[in-house]
Amino acid sequence: MKIAILPGDGIGTEIVAEAVKVLKVLDLKFEMESVLVGGAAYEAHGHPLPEATLKLAKESDAILFGAVGDWKYDKLDRPLRPEQAILGLRKNLGLFANFRPAICYPQLVDASSLKRELVAGLDILIIRELTGDIYFGQPRGRRVSPDGHFLGSEEAFDTMRYSRPEIERIARVAFDAARKRGKRVTSVDKANVLETFQLWKDVVTEIGKEYPDVALDHMYVDNAAMQLVKAPKKFDVVVTGNMFGDILSDAAAMLTGSIGMLPSASLNDKNQGLYEPSHGSAPDIAGKGVANPLATILSAAMMLRFSLNQPEAAERIEKAVDAVLTQGLRTPDIYSEGTTKVGTVEMGNAVVKALK
Ligand code: NAD
Repeated sequence: MKIAILPGDGIGTEIVAEAVKVLKVLDLKFEMESVLVGGAAYEAHGHPLPEATLKLAKESDAILFGAVGDWKYDKLDRPLRPEQAILGLRKNLGLFANFRPAICYPQLVDASSLKRELVAGLDILIIRELTGDIYFGQPRGRRVSPDGHFLGSEEAFDTMRYSRPEIERIARVAFDAARKRGKRVTSVDKANVLETFQLWKDVVTEIGKEYPDVALDHMYVDNAAMQLVKAPKKFDVVVTGNMFGDILSDAAAMLTGSIGMLPSASLNDKNQGLYEPSHGSAPDIAGKGVANPLATILSAAMMLRFSLNQPEAAERIEKAVDAVLTQGLRTPDIYSEGTTKVGTVEMGNAVVKALK
Protein backbone atom coordinates (compact mmCIF):
# COMPACT_ATOMS: atom_id res chain seq x y z
CA MET A 1 0.00 0.00 0.00
CA LYS A 2 1.18 3.45 -0.82
CA ILE A 3 0.27 6.78 0.71
CA ALA A 4 1.09 10.05 -1.02
CA ILE A 5 1.86 12.76 1.53
CA LEU A 6 1.01 16.26 0.29
CA PRO A 7 1.57 18.75 3.14
CA GLY A 8 1.04 21.93 1.06
CA ASP A 9 1.30 25.41 2.54
CA GLY A 10 0.95 27.31 5.81
CA ILE A 11 -0.05 25.10 8.71
CA GLY A 12 -0.36 22.19 6.23
CA THR A 13 3.27 21.23 6.77
CA GLU A 14 2.97 21.46 10.57
CA ILE A 15 -0.16 19.36 10.96
CA VAL A 16 0.76 16.71 8.38
CA ALA A 17 4.07 16.14 10.15
CA GLU A 18 2.11 15.20 13.28
CA ALA A 19 -0.22 12.86 11.38
CA VAL A 20 2.77 11.14 9.75
CA LYS A 21 4.32 10.65 13.18
CA VAL A 22 1.09 8.97 14.32
CA LEU A 23 0.94 6.73 11.23
CA LYS A 24 4.54 5.63 11.76
CA VAL A 25 3.97 4.30 15.28
CA LEU A 26 1.16 2.04 14.07
CA ASP A 27 3.76 -0.26 12.58
CA LEU A 28 1.70 -1.08 9.50
CA LYS A 29 3.21 -2.03 6.18
CA PHE A 30 2.82 0.91 3.88
CA GLU A 31 5.06 3.15 1.89
CA MET A 32 4.83 6.93 2.30
CA GLU A 33 6.18 9.43 -0.21
CA SER A 34 6.02 13.18 0.24
CA VAL A 35 5.72 15.76 -2.58
CA LEU A 36 5.03 19.46 -2.96
CA VAL A 37 1.60 20.84 -3.78
CA GLY A 38 -0.08 24.27 -3.82
CA GLY A 39 1.95 27.43 -3.28
CA ALA A 40 5.04 25.41 -2.31
CA ALA A 41 4.88 23.55 -5.65
CA TYR A 42 4.28 26.80 -7.52
CA GLU A 43 7.43 28.31 -5.95
CA ALA A 44 9.55 25.26 -6.79
CA HIS A 45 8.10 24.15 -10.14
CA GLY A 46 5.91 27.00 -11.40
CA HIS A 47 2.64 25.05 -11.01
CA PRO A 48 0.44 24.24 -7.97
CA LEU A 49 -0.14 20.66 -9.19
CA PRO A 50 3.01 19.56 -11.03
CA GLU A 51 2.93 16.42 -13.20
CA ALA A 52 5.03 14.48 -10.65
CA THR A 53 2.60 15.30 -7.83
CA LEU A 54 -0.41 14.24 -9.88
CA LYS A 55 1.38 11.05 -10.97
CA LEU A 56 2.19 10.08 -7.39
CA ALA A 57 -1.39 10.85 -6.31
CA LYS A 58 -2.79 8.66 -9.09
CA GLU A 59 -0.45 5.74 -8.26
CA SER A 60 -1.19 5.81 -4.53
CA ASP A 61 -3.98 4.06 -2.64
CA ALA A 62 -4.58 7.19 -0.60
CA ILE A 63 -3.44 10.78 -0.30
CA LEU A 64 -2.90 12.56 2.98
CA PHE A 65 -3.27 16.25 2.24
CA GLY A 66 -2.58 19.22 4.53
CA ALA A 67 -3.86 22.50 3.12
CA VAL A 68 -2.91 24.95 0.40
CA GLY A 69 -3.10 28.68 -0.14
CA ASP A 70 -1.83 32.01 1.02
CA TRP A 71 -3.08 35.53 0.46
CA LYS A 72 0.15 36.33 -1.41
CA TYR A 73 -1.00 34.17 -4.33
CA ASP A 74 -4.33 35.97 -4.74
CA LYS A 75 -3.01 38.04 -7.64
CA LEU A 76 -1.84 35.04 -9.69
CA ASP A 77 -3.82 33.91 -12.73
CA ARG A 78 -6.49 31.53 -11.48
CA PRO A 79 -4.99 28.32 -12.98
CA LEU A 80 -1.75 28.98 -11.06
CA ARG A 81 -3.33 29.64 -7.67
CA PRO A 82 -2.65 27.03 -4.97
CA GLU A 83 -6.34 26.13 -4.52
CA GLN A 84 -6.42 24.90 -8.13
CA ALA A 85 -4.33 21.93 -6.97
CA ILE A 86 -7.23 20.58 -4.91
CA LEU A 87 -9.72 21.06 -7.74
CA GLY A 88 -7.25 19.36 -10.12
CA LEU A 89 -6.80 16.37 -7.79
CA ARG A 90 -10.56 16.00 -7.30
CA LYS A 91 -11.21 16.14 -11.03
CA ASN A 92 -8.30 13.93 -12.13
CA LEU A 93 -8.95 11.23 -9.56
CA GLY A 94 -12.75 11.45 -9.87
CA LEU A 95 -13.14 12.14 -6.13
CA PHE A 96 -16.85 12.83 -6.22
CA ALA A 97 -17.92 11.94 -2.68
CA ASN A 98 -16.81 14.12 0.20
CA PHE A 99 -17.49 12.83 3.72
CA ARG A 100 -17.41 15.37 6.51
CA PRO A 101 -18.39 13.97 9.86
CA ALA A 102 -19.21 16.61 12.49
CA ILE A 103 -18.89 15.01 15.90
CA CYS A 104 -18.96 17.01 19.11
CA TYR A 105 -16.63 15.32 21.58
CA PRO A 106 -18.15 15.47 25.09
CA GLN A 107 -14.84 16.93 26.35
CA LEU A 108 -15.21 19.89 23.95
CA VAL A 109 -18.86 20.65 24.42
CA ASP A 110 -18.06 24.06 25.92
CA ALA A 111 -15.77 25.03 23.03
CA SER A 112 -18.75 25.08 20.67
CA SER A 113 -20.32 28.41 19.84
CA LEU A 114 -23.73 26.88 20.57
CA LYS A 115 -25.28 26.02 23.92
CA ARG A 116 -24.15 22.73 25.46
CA GLU A 117 -27.60 21.09 25.20
CA LEU A 118 -27.77 21.76 21.45
CA VAL A 119 -24.45 20.07 20.63
CA ALA A 120 -23.79 17.47 23.34
CA GLY A 121 -23.82 14.09 21.57
CA LEU A 122 -23.87 15.63 18.09
CA ASP A 123 -22.88 13.12 15.39
CA ILE A 124 -23.84 14.11 11.87
CA LEU A 125 -22.33 13.25 8.52
CA ILE A 126 -22.38 15.73 5.68
CA ILE A 127 -21.91 14.19 2.26
CA ARG A 128 -21.02 16.78 -0.32
CA GLU A 129 -20.87 16.11 -4.07
CA LEU A 130 -17.43 17.27 -5.08
CA THR A 131 -16.84 17.23 -8.81
CA GLY A 132 -19.88 18.97 -10.28
CA ASP A 133 -22.12 21.98 -9.70
CA ILE A 134 -21.25 25.62 -10.21
CA TYR A 135 -17.57 25.07 -9.27
CA PHE A 136 -16.94 23.06 -12.44
CA GLY A 137 -19.85 23.96 -14.77
CA GLN A 138 -19.03 25.45 -18.17
CA PRO A 139 -19.32 28.03 -19.60
CA ARG A 140 -17.92 30.48 -17.11
CA GLY A 141 -16.07 33.71 -17.51
CA ARG A 142 -15.98 37.50 -17.57
CA ARG A 143 -17.14 39.56 -20.47
CA VAL A 144 -18.97 42.67 -21.57
CA SER A 145 -22.66 42.00 -21.07
CA PRO A 146 -24.17 41.26 -24.51
CA ASP A 147 -27.81 41.90 -23.53
CA GLY A 148 -30.28 42.74 -20.79
CA HIS A 149 -30.62 45.66 -18.46
CA PHE A 150 -26.84 46.01 -17.96
CA LEU A 151 -25.93 45.77 -21.66
CA GLY A 152 -22.32 46.86 -22.21
CA SER A 153 -21.28 46.56 -18.54
CA GLU A 154 -18.61 44.17 -17.34
CA GLU A 155 -20.18 40.96 -16.01
CA ALA A 156 -19.10 37.55 -14.79
CA PHE A 157 -20.97 34.25 -14.90
CA ASP A 158 -20.71 30.63 -13.77
CA THR A 159 -22.86 27.66 -14.72
CA MET A 160 -24.69 25.52 -12.17
CA ARG A 161 -25.09 22.06 -13.63
CA TYR A 162 -25.75 18.47 -12.53
CA SER A 163 -26.41 15.38 -14.62
CA ARG A 164 -28.63 12.49 -13.53
CA PRO A 165 -25.75 9.96 -13.12
CA GLU A 166 -23.83 12.39 -10.91
CA ILE A 167 -26.83 12.80 -8.63
CA GLU A 168 -27.60 9.08 -8.62
CA ARG A 169 -24.12 8.05 -7.49
CA ILE A 170 -23.84 10.60 -4.67
CA ALA A 171 -27.37 9.74 -3.52
CA ARG A 172 -26.39 6.06 -3.31
CA VAL A 173 -23.29 6.96 -1.30
CA ALA A 174 -25.50 8.86 1.16
CA PHE A 175 -28.12 6.11 1.49
CA ASP A 176 -25.43 3.45 1.94
CA ALA A 177 -23.75 5.55 4.64
CA ALA A 178 -27.10 6.15 6.39
CA ARG A 179 -27.73 2.40 6.49
CA LYS A 180 -24.64 2.04 8.69
CA ARG A 181 -25.76 4.85 11.03
CA GLY A 182 -29.09 6.39 11.98
CA LYS A 183 -30.91 5.40 8.74
CA ARG A 184 -31.99 8.95 7.92
CA VAL A 185 -30.99 11.11 4.93
CA THR A 186 -31.76 14.80 4.53
CA SER A 187 -31.26 15.97 0.96
CA VAL A 188 -30.54 19.69 0.81
CA ASP A 189 -31.50 21.62 -2.33
CA LYS A 190 -32.93 24.85 -3.66
CA ALA A 191 -35.56 23.23 -5.85
CA ASN A 192 -37.95 26.13 -5.31
CA VAL A 193 -35.69 28.41 -7.38
CA LEU A 194 -33.15 26.36 -9.35
CA GLU A 195 -33.78 23.87 -12.18
CA THR A 196 -30.55 22.06 -11.27
CA PHE A 197 -31.85 21.33 -7.81
CA GLN A 198 -35.31 20.31 -8.99
CA LEU A 199 -33.55 17.53 -10.93
CA TRP A 200 -31.46 16.83 -7.81
CA LYS A 201 -34.59 16.44 -5.68
CA ASP A 202 -36.38 14.24 -8.25
CA VAL A 203 -33.40 11.91 -8.65
CA VAL A 204 -32.67 11.62 -4.91
CA THR A 205 -36.35 10.76 -4.37
CA GLU A 206 -36.16 8.02 -7.02
CA ILE A 207 -32.98 6.51 -5.56
CA GLY A 208 -34.53 6.72 -2.09
CA LYS A 209 -37.14 4.16 -3.22
CA GLU A 210 -34.32 1.59 -3.49
CA TYR A 211 -33.68 2.12 0.25
CA PRO A 212 -37.06 1.59 1.97
CA ASP A 213 -35.26 1.12 5.31
CA VAL A 214 -33.80 4.66 5.16
CA ALA A 215 -36.03 7.67 5.87
CA LEU A 216 -35.59 10.53 3.39
CA ASP A 217 -36.58 14.13 3.78
CA HIS A 218 -35.83 17.22 1.69
CA MET A 219 -34.86 20.64 2.95
CA TYR A 220 -34.14 23.94 1.21
CA VAL A 221 -30.60 25.11 1.81
CA ASP A 222 -31.62 28.30 3.62
CA ASN A 223 -33.71 26.30 6.08
CA ALA A 224 -30.91 23.73 6.43
CA ALA A 225 -28.50 26.50 7.42
CA MET A 226 -31.00 27.66 10.03
CA GLN A 227 -31.70 24.16 11.37
CA LEU A 228 -27.97 23.41 11.62
CA VAL A 229 -27.59 26.11 14.24
CA LYS A 230 -31.05 25.73 15.78
CA ALA A 231 -31.35 21.97 16.23
CA PRO A 232 -28.34 20.26 14.66
CA LYS A 233 -28.93 16.94 16.39
CA LYS A 234 -32.01 16.27 14.30
CA PHE A 235 -29.79 15.49 11.29
CA ASP A 236 -28.17 12.13 10.62
CA VAL A 237 -26.77 12.10 7.06
CA VAL A 238 -27.04 15.29 5.01
CA VAL A 239 -26.43 15.01 1.26
CA THR A 240 -26.06 18.05 -0.93
CA GLY A 241 -24.33 19.62 -3.93
CA ASN A 242 -20.85 21.03 -4.12
CA MET A 243 -21.51 24.67 -3.27
CA PHE A 244 -24.17 24.17 -0.58
CA GLY A 245 -22.03 21.43 0.96
CA ASP A 246 -19.01 23.70 1.02
CA ILE A 247 -20.86 26.27 3.10
CA LEU A 248 -22.94 24.00 5.33
CA SER A 249 -20.00 21.80 6.28
CA ASP A 250 -18.01 24.79 7.54
CA ALA A 251 -21.00 25.90 9.60
CA ALA A 252 -21.25 22.36 10.99
CA ALA A 253 -17.56 22.54 11.86
CA MET A 254 -18.18 25.28 14.37
CA LEU A 255 -20.79 23.16 16.15
CA THR A 256 -18.00 20.78 17.06
CA GLY A 257 -15.91 23.47 18.74
CA SER A 258 -13.30 24.19 16.10
CA ILE A 259 -12.65 23.61 12.45
CA GLY A 260 -9.34 22.23 13.73
CA MET A 261 -11.20 19.10 14.89
CA LEU A 262 -12.90 18.22 11.61
CA PRO A 263 -11.52 15.51 9.31
CA SER A 264 -12.70 14.78 5.80
CA ALA A 265 -12.47 12.12 3.13
CA SER A 266 -13.00 12.48 -0.62
CA LEU A 267 -13.49 9.18 -2.40
CA ASN A 268 -13.84 7.91 -5.93
CA ASP A 269 -15.68 4.80 -7.08
CA LYS A 270 -12.56 2.65 -6.42
CA ASN A 271 -12.30 3.78 -2.77
CA GLN A 272 -9.13 5.63 -3.56
CA GLY A 273 -9.28 8.74 -1.44
CA LEU A 274 -7.87 12.09 -0.52
CA TYR A 275 -7.91 12.75 3.22
CA GLU A 276 -7.56 16.24 4.60
CA PRO A 277 -8.67 18.44 7.46
CA SER A 278 -11.71 20.54 6.60
CA HIS A 279 -9.83 23.77 7.22
CA GLY A 280 -7.40 25.72 5.07
CA SER A 281 -3.77 26.74 5.44
CA ALA A 282 -4.53 29.32 8.16
CA PRO A 283 -1.86 31.88 7.17
CA ASP A 284 -2.76 33.89 10.30
CA ILE A 285 -1.28 31.21 12.60
CA ALA A 286 1.19 29.48 10.25
CA GLY A 287 4.70 29.03 11.66
CA LYS A 288 3.57 29.73 15.24
CA GLY A 289 3.30 26.07 16.25
CA VAL A 290 -0.24 26.51 17.58
CA ALA A 291 -2.37 24.84 14.87
CA ASN A 292 -4.56 21.98 15.98
CA PRO A 293 -3.31 18.78 14.29
CA LEU A 294 -6.27 16.62 15.39
CA ALA A 295 -8.39 17.12 12.24
CA THR A 296 -5.46 15.85 10.18
CA ILE A 297 -4.76 12.97 12.55
CA LEU A 298 -8.46 12.02 12.43
CA SER A 299 -8.31 12.28 8.60
CA ALA A 300 -5.48 9.74 8.69
CA ALA A 301 -7.81 7.48 10.70
CA MET A 302 -10.51 7.85 8.03
CA MET A 303 -7.87 6.97 5.44
CA LEU A 304 -7.01 3.74 7.24
CA ARG A 305 -10.69 2.82 7.44
CA PHE A 306 -11.93 3.77 3.95
CA SER A 307 -8.97 3.27 1.60
CA LEU A 308 -6.46 1.07 3.38
CA ASN A 309 -8.79 -1.47 4.97
CA GLN A 310 -7.33 -1.09 8.47
CA PRO A 311 -10.40 -0.38 10.64
CA GLU A 312 -8.69 -1.49 13.88
CA ALA A 313 -5.82 0.93 13.35
CA ALA A 314 -8.35 3.70 12.60
CA GLU A 315 -10.13 2.98 15.84
CA ARG A 316 -6.86 3.02 17.77
CA ILE A 317 -6.15 6.54 16.49
CA GLU A 318 -9.67 7.74 17.32
CA LYS A 319 -9.37 6.34 20.84
CA ALA A 320 -5.97 7.99 21.28
CA VAL A 321 -7.45 11.37 20.26
CA ASP A 322 -10.26 10.83 22.72
CA ALA A 323 -7.70 10.01 25.41
CA VAL A 324 -5.65 13.20 24.92
CA LEU A 325 -8.83 15.28 25.10
CA THR A 326 -9.78 13.48 28.31
CA GLN A 327 -6.31 14.29 29.67
CA GLY A 328 -7.32 17.94 29.21
CA LEU A 329 -4.79 18.81 26.48
CA ARG A 330 -5.98 21.63 24.20
CA THR A 331 -4.52 23.65 21.36
CA PRO A 332 -5.57 27.33 21.61
CA ASP A 333 -8.56 26.94 19.23
CA ILE A 334 -10.26 24.50 21.65
CA TYR A 335 -8.84 25.83 24.90
CA SER A 336 -11.13 26.63 27.79
CA GLU A 337 -10.41 27.45 31.42
CA GLY A 338 -9.22 24.51 33.51
CA THR A 339 -7.57 22.70 30.59
CA THR A 340 -3.90 22.58 29.56
CA LYS A 341 -2.83 24.65 26.57
CA VAL A 342 -0.40 22.85 24.22
CA GLY A 343 1.10 23.48 20.78
CA THR A 344 0.91 21.46 17.56
CA VAL A 345 3.93 19.23 18.25
CA GLU A 346 2.99 18.57 21.88
CA MET A 347 -0.49 17.56 20.79
CA GLY A 348 0.94 15.18 18.16
CA ASN A 349 3.34 13.72 20.71
CA ALA A 350 0.49 13.18 23.17
CA VAL A 351 -1.47 11.20 20.55
CA VAL A 352 1.62 9.11 19.80
CA LYS A 353 2.08 8.45 23.52
CA ALA A 354 -1.58 7.48 23.95
CA LEU A 355 -1.21 5.07 21.01
CA LYS A 356 1.83 3.42 22.53
P1 NAD B 1 -8.73 28.65 7.14
O1 NAD B 1 -9.52 27.40 7.34
O2 NAD B 1 -7.33 28.49 6.72
O3 NAD B 1 -8.77 29.51 8.49
C1 NAD B 1 -9.98 30.00 9.06
C2 NAD B 1 -9.74 30.29 10.55
O4 NAD B 1 -9.63 29.05 11.26
C3 NAD B 1 -8.44 31.04 10.82
O5 NAD B 1 -8.64 31.94 11.88
C4 NAD B 1 -7.46 29.96 11.24
O6 NAD B 1 -6.45 30.40 12.11
C5 NAD B 1 -8.39 28.96 11.93
N1 NAD B 1 -7.89 27.59 11.76
C6 NAD B 1 -7.91 26.84 10.64
N2 NAD B 1 -7.36 25.65 10.86
C7 NAD B 1 -6.96 25.63 12.15
C8 NAD B 1 -6.30 24.66 12.98
N3 NAD B 1 -5.94 23.46 12.52
N4 NAD B 1 -6.06 25.00 14.25
C9 NAD B 1 -6.42 26.17 14.75
N5 NAD B 1 -7.04 27.13 14.03
C10 NAD B 1 -7.31 26.87 12.74
O7 NAD B 1 -9.54 29.51 6.09
P2 NAD B 1 -9.18 30.92 5.41
O8 NAD B 1 -8.46 31.77 6.39
O9 NAD B 1 -10.44 31.37 4.81
O10 NAD B 1 -8.21 30.55 4.23
C11 NAD B 1 -6.79 30.57 4.32
C12 NAD B 1 -6.19 29.99 3.04
O11 NAD B 1 -6.52 28.61 2.97
C13 NAD B 1 -6.72 30.61 1.76
O12 NAD B 1 -5.66 30.74 0.85
C14 NAD B 1 -7.75 29.60 1.28
O13 NAD B 1 -7.94 29.64 -0.10
C15 NAD B 1 -7.10 28.32 1.69
N6 NAD B 1 -8.02 27.18 1.89
C16 NAD B 1 -7.53 25.97 1.55
C17 NAD B 1 -8.29 24.85 1.77
C18 NAD B 1 -7.68 23.51 1.45
O14 NAD B 1 -6.47 23.43 1.29
N7 NAD B 1 -8.47 22.45 1.37
C19 NAD B 1 -9.57 24.95 2.32
C20 NAD B 1 -10.04 26.21 2.70
C21 NAD B 1 -9.25 27.34 2.48
